[in-house]
Amino acid sequence: MLMRIGGKDVEGIDECWIEVKNPATGELVDRVPDGTNEDVSCAVDAAEAAFGAWAKKSMRERGMILFHAARIVRDQHKDLARLLTIEQGKPIYESIDEVRGFANILEFYAGISAHSSGEAIRLGPAGDCMVVREPLGVCGAIIPWNMPVLIMGWKVGPALLAGNTLVLKPASTTPLTTLKLAGILDSAGLLPGILNIVTGSGKSVGEAIVTHPAIRKLSFTGDCTTGNKIRELASGHLKDLTLELGGSDPMIVMDDADIDRAVEGAVRGRFYNAGQTCTAVKRLYVHEKISTRFIKKLKDRIDALTVGNGLGSKIDIGPMNSAGQREKISQMVEETRENKEGTILTGGYTLKGTAYERGYFYRPTLVSTISLDSRLVTSEIFGPVLPVMTVPDLDTAILEANNTRYGLGASVWTKDLATTKRVFDEVKAGIIWVNRHLTVPPEVPFGGMNESGIGRENGQHALDSYSRTKTLFLGW
Ligand code: NDP
Repeated sequence: MLMRIGGKDVEGIDECWIEVKNPATGELVDRVPDGTNEDVSCAVDAAEAAFGAWAKKSMRERGMILFHAARIVRDQHKDLARLLTIEQGKPIYESIDEVRGFANILEFYAGISAHSSGEAIRLGPAGDCMVVREPLGVCGAIIPWNMPVLIMGWKVGPALLAGNTLVLKPASTTPLTTLKLAGILDSAGLLPGILNIVTGSGKSVGEAIVTHPAIRKLSFTGDCTTGNKIRELASGHLKDLTLELGGSDPMIVMDDADIDRAVEGAVRGRFYNAGQTCTAVKRLYVHEKISTRFIKKLKDRIDALTVGNGLGSKIDIGPMNSAGQREKISQMVEETRENKEGTILTGGYTLKGTAYERGYFYRPTLVSTISLDSRLVTSEIFGPVLPVMTVPDLDTAILEANNTRYGLGASVWTKDLATTKRVFDEVKAGIIWVNRHLTVPPEVPFGGMNESGIGRENGQHALDSYSRTKTLFLGW
């Protein structure tokens, strides 16, 4: 497939290509241009040229185009989901969820377009003020490979509704569904240049977007180290930044929890998308009174999970997205095994020697009695590995939950209101779920504290972040 710049499919100036492989088989799926600085400049020029007319439209008109695009996405959701599974690996039902999630986001922003509002301030004899919101101009977006469709929606929906134009770079392993969706948005009525997709590496295309002086705001989702680098590179031009940099979410299960429900929550919370989710359950703390029963049920449930090609039926877990990601996870587990830092209760191996050996599969893994210094506890584990720790009380659980540089999400599983209140007040995270984990509908603000990032995606909060206030002061 080709890049999309100025409403056209474009080959790129260099005629170099990136191969996109199916993570379930290692086979070549397609190739996309390996873009350059010049391609980013062309995309920014197209976005600048399109900005004036797009910004002048009413929010309601822009919303109608998003709404129309959502309908086309729903009509084509099966084909889009299939493509997503082929390039990303996740089971087809998860891809369908994600594609529908993209449509939900566009519909949410289309819905609030009818409520665009400002502010009026009465100052008394000195005058009155009218405060309105206006778009920022050309914005940049850099998205990762774990949830390329959903995260594209989180950026495209509010940025376009607010009246901005956009230059977006997908991850090199998952550009295809993004390109298809951009074509759909164009066909729904975007003028050429409003949404531009430049494919290529983070080093060239990513950094060219970050440093381009005409890009006023940048929204990035990905690794902490990359996010910090982006922050430094962008500081020269005083750009607005939204950084969503992952997390190490704790899940706390208290002794009054509904055990079966919490086991299901842990399985979905950790192993959805083969564990490659920023808000996945990455550390599980279980009250000692129920830990033996809980861990046994959890292990049995994990043993029953089916791993295989996401296009197959009855597959719970697909491959990881790349050989590199699997290697990272595999090394962490091996290190834990060799250093005797934990007990591997199940999993802890690839599918070598099976029909799946050419794919990047990793068997879902549960590790107990784990040392708190193990990398499985201290790092963001971006794969299907779950460390479980036993805690004597809520105080210890909260202390351990906060023992991280991240602060994206956390959950507590309990029936007790006082426990809920303490976790909500004391655990440092942008979202606290109770008897749930992972779900983030479009109306709910999403983002972290500490090293999990800056700013919020979703909801009115994201829309505000893609605009600035302008005040008319009427002096009587
Ligand atoms: P990256 O942060 O490298 O990649 C995310 C996106 O940023 C991709 O589009 C990538 O492009 C781009 N990028 C990479 N380097 C730069 C740069 N210097 N300037 C601008 N853009 C850049 O993450 P990885 O893919 O390397 O994953 C590493 C780890 O990050 C994972 O193991 C996981 O822990 C974490 N992660 C967290 C995510 C989250 O949702 N919070 C999502 C993805 C990863 P390209 O694909 O071309 O390299």
